Amino acid sequence: MTKKRYIVVAHAFDKRGRLLAVATNSYTKTHPVQKYYADRVGHPHQPFAHAEILCMLRCKDKQIHKLMIFRYDNEGRLVCAKPCPICQEAFTAYHPTEVWYSDQGTMVKL
Ligand SMILES: [Zn+2]
Repeated sequence: MTKKRYIVVAHAFDKRGRLLAVATNSYTKTHPVQKYYADRVGHPHQPFAHAEILCMLRCKDKQIHKLMIFRYDNEGRLVCAKPCPICQEAFTAYHPTEVWYSDQGTMVKL
């Protein structure tokens, strides 16, 4: 039996609508920043890099206006991508102005 896996993609835009960075989640790569926030919210067993965090890291010091998070199931349908507590903790440090995530085929503002 294959384990059900989802693809999560995050896009970051500046306030003029320019794409700053794109990232996908990883089930194999850990990241020290992911681990740092995972520890902070009490989930030290979740060091694998989430798309939102990788995307924000790739923006370096650029101000993120809008962070869009899309999650797809095995059939390519948009499903709920509500950011986990680890990523929400990271938002307080990277403070994107708006965070939107997919939910059953539409986008919802956090
Ligand atoms: Zn997360």
